[in-house]
Amino acid sequence: MVTSQSRLQNEDLLGKGKLYVVGIGPGLVEHLTVRAQKVLKDSDYVIGNGTYLDQIESLLNDQKVIRSTMGKEVDRARCAIELAGHSRVSIVSGGDANIYGMAGLVMEIAERTAMKVDIEVLPGVTAISAAASILGAPIVNDFAVISLSDLLTPWEVIEKRLIAASKADFVIALYNPKSRQRNSNFSKSIGILREHKNDSVPVGLVKNALRESGEDVIVTTLGEVLEYDDWVNMRTTVLIGNNESRIWKLDDIKRIITPRGYQRKYDY
Ligand code: SAH
Repeated sequence: MVTSQSRLQNEDLLGKGKLYVVGIGPGLVEHLTVRAQKVLKDSDYVIGNGTYLDQIESLLNDQKVIRSTMGKEVDRARCAIELAGHSRVSIVSGGDANIYGMAGLVMEIAERTAMKVDIEVLPGVTAISAAASILGAPIVNDFAVISLSDLLTPWEVIEKRLIAASKADFVIALYNPKSRQRNSNFSKSIGILREHKNDSVPVGLVKNALRESGEDVIVTTLGEVLEYDDWVNMRTTVLIGNNESRIWKLDDIKRIITPRGYQRKYDY
């Protein structure tokens, strides 16, 4: 008989608590999975950074809410693990918890504690999916995701990945393109990508994708994207096409299409 790993973990555990690491998607509650909504509603505690807790406010009522701030991720993960010894705890993460999110830190800290904690990670719609859905079909082929934040990753490593991904002509998504402390990482990265990709490659900039405020979108090219340097901020995802990507303009709306390759096999 095949038993799933999480069943095995459950049977093995002593306490009755459980820790859910919940990916809450890009913003609007309707983009949370049904399971994530159910788990959040049934939790004794919901822990997260204020911005994310605001996004799921409509799901919060009887739960005890613990508000945290950016930079306090280690304390937050520790607190969630301790409470999960006896309670149902949800620690929330924007988008997907595996993509520059809380899943990693929670697992690392749990691995180091003597406590046995039952942990379940719930997937969410990540920024690249949210942004791509607004731009049309900019991915639809092999892609690479690179964060420009050099707080936790050395800049030399980021640079190496930008070069490798652009040389291999991946569609590239840039997360964390800017912050107050890192204003020039975006322009430096575009400079690197331009050495290996054509200037005509389409670029989509999507700010606040699928959030309450509504999103802002710019469709441009790699050669011209730095004209929008000041517009890009920490709430923006940047999507850079591959050499086959193109812009489809219909009336005032510009979309990006990256062909999957059907044109090589079929007439349409
Ligand atoms: N775990 C998150 C990503 C965290 S890193 C996820 O899976 O989406 C934070 C970066 O994600 C931001 O700097 C921005 O580049 C991107 N991002 C997150 N939500 C976004 C949204 N609604 N619209 C545009 N970009 C977003």
